[in-house]
Amino acid sequence: MQQQSRARTYVVYLGLGSSLGDRATNLQNAVNGMHNQSDGACIAIEAVSQVYESPHMGLAFTDSETYPAHLNAVIRISTNLEPELLLNAIHNVEQLGGRERTLHWGPRTIDIDILLIDDMVIDTARLTVPHPGILHRPFVLLPLADVAPKIWLASGETVESAVQRIMTERPIIRRTADAISNPGMAGRM
Ligand code: ADP
Ligand code: MG
Repeated sequence: MQQQSRARTYVVYLGLGSSLGDRATNLQNAVNGMHNQSDGACIAIEAVSQVYESPHMGLAFTDSETYPAHLNAVIRISTNLEPELLLNAIHNVEQLGGRERTLHWGPRTIDIDILLIDDMVIDTARLTVPHPGILHRPFVLLPLADVAPKIWLASGETVESAVQRIMTERPIIRRTADAISNPGMAGRM
């Protein structure tokens, strides 16, 4: 008989973004923060994408003095946290990363969004999953394709075919030389 009480493990994709301060360090600190849960919560970092840079919506890289460009990455985690508790953990890590919730869409040290949780659909006051931006955002799709090219999206496409589609729109985005290390792999061969 299956034990009903056994905690479930969720596979989750998180989108990370930073447009203020030392952006690459902010992304790394966010990954470390998700890994270092102190209250018994278990979050394992399973995969980390490359880092991408894109100007703020509607702008060019040359406008980055007006509005700084964003760095983005995606990580895959597995966790025993229920979705709402994962959101709380994310908000804690955002706060530790110096995030101030002032201007919606304003420049921010760190933004962590839940993109996908298994194939769950959630629509509550606090949480919309899959994240509604996935299908239209190059800065989500490109890093997501690094860690999950073959998974299926709500649009009926795989991530890699969604990337092909979005690249025909010639988005302004480039891969950077920054590399996020996986704190879960430290010391492993
Ligand atoms: P945004 O990411 O849209 O720029 P915030 O990071 O300030 O804005 O998030 C605003 C609110 O969005 C959060 O307090 C959270 O309750 C809600 N939210 C809804 N769905 C999600 C999701 N999939 N991931 C993260 N936050 C979400
Ligand atoms: Mg957010």
